[in-house]
Amino acid sequence: MAKHEFQTEVGQLLQLMTHSLYSNKEIFIRELVSNASDAIDKLNYLRLTEDNLKEKYADFKGQVNIKIDEEDNSITIADNGLGMNEEDLIASIGTIAKSGTKSFVEALSGDAKKDSNLIGQFGVGFYSVFMVADKVDVISKKAGEEQAYKWSSDGSGSFDLNPCVKDESGTVIYIKLKEEERSDYTSKHRVETIVKKYSNHIAYPIFLNYSEEVTEELSEEDEKAGKEAKKSIEKKREQINEATALWTQPKATLKAEDYNEFYKTISHDSDEPLIYVHTKAEGVSEYTTLFYIPKKAPMDMYRVDFQPGVKLYVKRVFITDDEKELLPTYLRFVRGIIDSEDLPLNVSRELLQENKIMANIKQSSVKKVLGEIKKLAKDEEKYKDFIAEYNRPLKEGVYQDYTNKDAILELIRYKSTNDEEKMTSLSAYKDRADSEQKAIYYIVGENEKVLRNSPLLEAYKKNNIEVLILDDKEIDEIITPSIGSYQEWDLKDITSCEAPKAEQTEEEKKEVEEKFKSIVEKIKGVLGDAVKEVKTTNRLSDSPSCVVKDANDPMASMAHMFRQMGQEMPESAPILEINPDHAIVQSLNGCADDALIEDVSWLLLDQAKMSEGMEIKDSVSFTQRLNRVMSKAF
Ligand code: ADP
Repeated sequence: MAKHEFQTEVGQLLQLMTHSLYSNKEIFIRELVSNASDAIDKLNYLRLTEDNLKEKYADFKGQVNIKIDEEDNSITIADNGLGMNEEDLIASIGTIAKSGTKSFVEALSGDAKKDSNLIGQFGVGFYSVFMVADKVDVISKKAGEEQAYKWSSDGSGSFDLNPCVKDESGTVIYIKLKEEERSDYTSKHRVETIVKKYSNHIAYPIFLNYSEEVTEELSEEDEKAGKEAKKSIEKKREQINEATALWTQPKATLKAEDYNEFYKTISHDSDEPLIYVHTKAEGVSEYTTLFYIPKKAPMDMYRVDFQPGVKLYVKRVFITDDEKELLPTYLRFVRGIIDSEDLPLNVSRELLQENKIMANIKQSSVKKVLGEIKKLAKDEEKYKDFIAEYNRPLKEGVYQDYTNKDAILELIRYKSTNDEEKMTSLSAYKDRADSEQKAIYYIVGENEKVLRNSPLLEAYKKNNIEVLILDDKEIDEIITPSIGSYQEWDLKDITSCEAPKAEQTEEEKKEVEEKFKSIVEKIKGVLGDAVKEVKTTNRLSDSPSCVVKDANDPMASMAHMFRQMGQEMPESAPILEINPDHAIVQSLNGCADDALIEDVSWLLLDQAKMSEGMEIKDSVSFTQRLNRVMSKAF
């Protein structure tokens, strides 16, 4: 007997499953049938491409068999698909390899109530069987191999794995039910209902094998003679699903419910999708697509090793579910199916990217999906939920997908000074703007509150100019400058552009500069390399000082470029601007106490940096200076 320990995360997950916090236990059938269908899909493809399988599986017809046994209190789900060998069994159902599942399990807290919600959001595939099982045997033989294996576990810490005998390739999953599930999953009616509900449109036939007690029909005489009718158990077998791939059905015959249940089968999501769109294209290129957008973003959306959600079929034959570029990566949250009539069945996965037919399908699919999102945007409430999940990938799209840049820009939403509660589109921003305004202003940072209170906004508030608050710094800092302009309006970062509508004439400006020249020089003398420049400004009203970036500094844009490429680069020294109308600055201008000038200069710089959410270099000196200035104030 070869005993194996489960990987820690699997143990954790199983713990949760066996204690069954999840109310919707019946979905284990959906998960196992979906795995069976995937395994048949895979063999169907490999028999076309692998020489050693071609002949043997020339007449292959995939099917799933479910057997219920009331007496034994068990249910068995068998497929004649690809099967698993010893390594596969260990890797697939003893470990969690998939990043999404792994992060899901990491997110489990041990808090039963919270975790069951999480499970609801996330399919757990094979392991869901332990919600209903006392013991599970997986007997599998991989197509093209000789040896079969039996995997057994009761869902506690370990599983056994041993060679065994099995004739056909494929997988049999024998589930010994927990006593309390006895009547549920051995009832013909119940199992049939579950399969119809979730797996009606799996592309392969699903047969239900069951036993029925039949009573002998007696002739009239026998009945009169008081003869007792014999009872016997008869084995029966019935196909219980339609076995027609859902996407091949005419749209008119499908109901929202059909689409939603099919979504659950292919996505392992227990929630309904936010939207779906089913398209049949005819003409130059013939193909069908069925796309879904999940309500919640997939767990692995921000991982490089994310699992793509779109499967490619050619004439109903599954080709791949592992191609990250069927849609552009910014749409990696989309789930669904592409089924082409024109691609060759033996299309090599490697060459898929260069294939013209595929490129055409991809292009139209992107347009379709973006179009659906645009439609969704009309429903403000629903769109808010969409944006909460997917604003960020859309922003990536602006960068990635030049052809659709304008369409994507219409879909993104931004926080703004116009309304603290509601996000805005760029077009709504434009509509609200004053007729003289010719640019879209924004500020980028990590913290919404800090941004909303930035001294740099003062001049914009005063002039009634709306500023977009971009607080997803990691992405906004890279993407926003690359947008350039939206409908001829430049996007301008207020930390590096001129303040709007200077009310001063050149002469007035010169006058102020002259008046504050000596203090400006003194402050620069004190701060040295910590600032690039010190100057007076008219962009402030309430604050004494602010820091801005130098838009013309070539080093700054170089540094920005390096940061885009993932390199750590220090921020270059900012420009310190002081407010000549502010009491502190005015008093400082006439001040003869050099020690005080030094302290206040540093305080003006440090507080300006803090207001922008930047770090100050030396918090000890900051406190000491603040204390000295406060003492002098008394
Ligand atoms: P998922 O189906 O989401 O990948 P599961 O936990 O349900 O996650 O299954 C894990 C893996 O085990 C599958 O990806 C597949 O490789 C393998 N597997 C499960 N069931 C079968 C089956 N009936 N036939 C072949 N392989 C299977």
